[in-house]
Amino acid sequence: MAKILIVEDEEKIARFLELELGHEGYAVEKAHDGRTGLEMASGGKWDLVVLDIMLPELSGLEVLRRLRKTSDVPVILLTARDAVTDKVSGLDMGANDYITKPFAIEELLARIRVVLRGRSDGKEEHILTGAGITLDTSSHAVSYAGKPVELTNREFVLLKTLLEHKNTAMTREALLETAWGYDYMGETNVVDVYVRYIRQKTGDEVIRTLRGVGYMVKDEK
Ligand code: CA
Repeated sequence: MAKILIVEDEEKIARFLELELGHEGYAVEKAHDGRTGLEMASGGKWDLVVLDIMLPELSGLEVLRRLRKTSDVPVILLTARDAVTDKVSGLDMGANDYITKPFAIEELLARIRVVLRGRSDGKEEHILTGAGITLDTSSHAVSYAGKPVELTNREFVLLKTLLEHKNTAMTREALLETAWGYDYMGETNVVDVYVRYIRQKTGDEVIRTLRGVGYMVKDEK
């Protein structure tokens, strides 16, 4: 269940949002001023924050600015009508979307769904894990047992291919073709060479040898 924090000082709107979002199956909590909102939002347990701009103690934009120093939790801003500068600075400061008051609840719900979907897609797409390895296909960062590992581009692509097919036996031919796009005719021992390089950096347990078949990353979970 997605957890949403509502930061809104107008009690009527806050209650209405709590009710509607709760009805949609979200777990909702509320904060009624900027300072409390920032504290709660920084707690890190949220999937999304709905943040009003006009707030007592700290404005929504100031909350967002401070929040972005420590957190990339998705934020949808609630702005007053025609406050164009608020919208622009809000997006500049890292808001994921905004909605203008007064708004139809259906529109806010639709935007919440889009933002939440974007977040989970992103996670699934670019982080691969298995056998103690975490590999980020967008930043190319690799770690083993929590420690960073430096791989060359070839090693990276080979390990990525094995992780994409984890728990599946991969022949040397399949690895050459998938990892490097070779329509390979001759020697396949280049795979063995790169597997050895990777093992030197991660330990022997990550890539298993399947005799007479090829290699596999086995995820025990
Ligand atoms: Ca307000």
